[in-house]
Amino acid sequence: MRHNFGAGPCILPQEVFKQASRAVVDFKDGLSILEISHRSPEFESVIEEASKLVKELLNVPSGYSVLFLQGGASMQFAMVPMNLLPEGKTAAYLETGVWANKAIKEVKYFGQANVVASSKDANFTFIPKDYTIPADSAYFHCTSNNTIYGTEMFDFPDTQVPLVCDMSSDIMSRVVDVSKFDLIYAGAQKNIGPAGLTIVIVKDEILGKTGRAIPSMLDYKQHIDNGSMYNTPPVFSIYVAMLNLNWLKSKGGVAEIEKENKAKAQALYAEIDRNPLFKGTCAVEDRSRMNVCFVMENPELEKPFLKFADENGFEGLKGHRSVGGFRASMYNALPITSVHALIDLMQTFEEKHAK
Ligand code: PLP
Repeated sequence: MRHNFGAGPCILPQEVFKQASRAVVDFKDGLSILEISHRSPEFESVIEEASKLVKELLNVPSGYSVLFLQGGASMQFAMVPMNLLPEGKTAAYLETGVWANKAIKEVKYFGQANVVASSKDANFTFIPKDYTIPADSAYFHCTSNNTIYGTEMFDFPDTQVPLVCDMSSDIMSRVVDVSKFDLIYAGAQKNIGPAGLTIVIVKDEILGKTGRAIPSMLDYKQHIDNGSMYNTPPVFSIYVAMLNLNWLKSKGGVAEIEKENKAKAQALYAEIDRNPLFKGTCAVEDRSRMNVCFVMENPELEKPFLKFADENGFEGLKGHRSVGGFRASMYNALPITSVHALIDLMQTFEEKHAK
C-alpha cells in the first residue's frame, strides 16, 4: 500500500474515486455523468445536494450564497477585488506566503493593497499577529492555511471591515465560524474535489457596492442569480465534490474530522520534536495540521531519507521547491494509520543513522 502525503491536486478517499469512476460509465440508464444534460433534474439534484452539504457541513448561516465556480482559487485573487473594492480604494492584506502574495498582486488592477503585516523576511515561517486593520479598508484578506510553508491561522482578527479568506487548503478540515467571514473561497482540490472547481461562500449583502461594471463570468451576483449555472458548470467536478462531502458527512462531519486531523498532526509533530534527526520549520503555535513542514538537522541525510521513504511506499514527502526539506500533507482523506507508518519510518531511519 502507498501512503500519499502529496499536497494534491485532489487527494480523496479511494471509495470516492471508485464511486466517481462508476458514474463516468453509467450514472443513469447507461448514460455517463459527463454526458447527461446539466439542466436535467438528475444533475440539478447533484448541484443542489452539493450546495446543501457545504451549507450543512460548515454551518453556513442564512444570508450567504454558496457558489461552484471555475478558474481555481487564483481566479478569486482577481474576482475578490473586482467585486468588493471600489475604484481607487484600499483593501488590507496579510502576507503569509506565495498565495497571499499572488492575491495581493491582483489588487492593483482595481485599487490598492495595503499589506498590514508580512512574515516574508522569515520565509513565511510564522503568522504575523501584531497589526491593525485600518477602519476605512474595503475588506481584510487573509489565507487560513499556507500550503507551501506549513503555517495555519488559528485565530482570525475581530474587525469591523469585511473579512475575506482564502481557505483553499484547510476548508472542511476544521470547524470555522462562517458568520465571522464575509467571503470565503477555496480551490476545491484539497478537501473537496477535483482541481479547477472553486467554492465561494459569500454574504449577499456585501455585493453590488463598487459601482464598477463587471463582466458576467466574473460577477458573483450573476452566478448567484443563475444558481452557479450561468454557463456550463464543471459537472463531473461538482459530482465528485458531492460524493466526497457525503463521505465527510458519513464520517461525522467537520467536527469529527477535525479531531482526527488534530490527532494526526499531534502525533507527527511530536515525533519531529522528539527525533534528533528532524526539526520543524515553523513557529510552534502556527503549525499547520494540513501541511507539516520539516527538515533534517543534517541536510546530507535528506536525500537518503526521501529514497528510504519512496522504497517503503511513501509518496509526495518532498518539500515545495521554494522551501526544501519535507512536507507531509495530511488532508482529510489521509488515514491516521499512514501517519503512524511515517512515524515508524522516521524511527527506523533514526536507528540506522543517529550517532
Ligand atoms: N491558495 C492556496 C492556499 C493554495 O494552496 C492554492 C493551491 O494550492 C491556491 C490558492 C491556488 O489554487 P488554484 O491552483 O486552484 O488556483
